[in-house]
Amino acid sequence: MATYLTPALAWRRLREGNERFVAGESSHPNQDASRRSSLVENQHPFAVIFGCSDSRLAAEIIFDLGLGDAFVVRTAGQVIDDAVLGSLEYSIGVLGVPLIVVLGHDSCGAVSATKTAVETGKMPVGFIRDLVERITPSVLTSLRNNETEVNDMVVEHVKQTSQRLVDSSRVISTAIETGRAAVIGLSYSLAEGRADLVSGIGDL
Ligand SMILES: [Zn+2]
Repeated sequence: MATYLTPALAWRRLREGNERFVAGESSHPNQDASRRSSLVENQHPFAVIFGCSDSRLAAEIIFDLGLGDAFVVRTAGQVIDDAVLGSLEYSIGVLGVPLIVVLGHDSCGAVSATKTAVETGKMPVGFIRDLVERITPSVLTSLRNNETEVNDMVVEHVKQTSQRLVDSSRVISTAIETGRAAVIGLSYSLAEGRADLVSGIGDL
């Protein structure tokens, strides 16, 4: 029988894992053979982490998690597309995950590329352009608020991405309205390893 955490307890568990990682005291839980065996039939992750693909943002490592703990979706600049929304709806609607984490980080290459494109008017070629187009609204909002640093834009992008998930998905918005799930936005410091809360939607 699955036991589901509340959104608040799920956030606390992530926060405690991140604190261990920051302190250099990771306990590497749930990574052994018995854990692997226990998960063959089903999974009950307590969080879904939707973050940037950056190699330094490895979700299970920075929150000190193991097998079966987190459902992870990552794209460069954590941009949303239909497959991302489908993956998040699966985690919330089918797996019953109580918490969605939108995870950005300082010095993000995708956000920096978007800042450059907005400033110069030159769009990158290929499908990188698609990433930049999806981040552009966040950069424009930042500039309108006189926030010109990349890291300010990262925070704005985390907030807009969180809101966009709720606006786009009936499954996610219903889970939030009924108190079964919440969405939090975190900004991660590459140097410190710390993930700080920058936004929240729903009861925490
Ligand atoms: Zn990034």
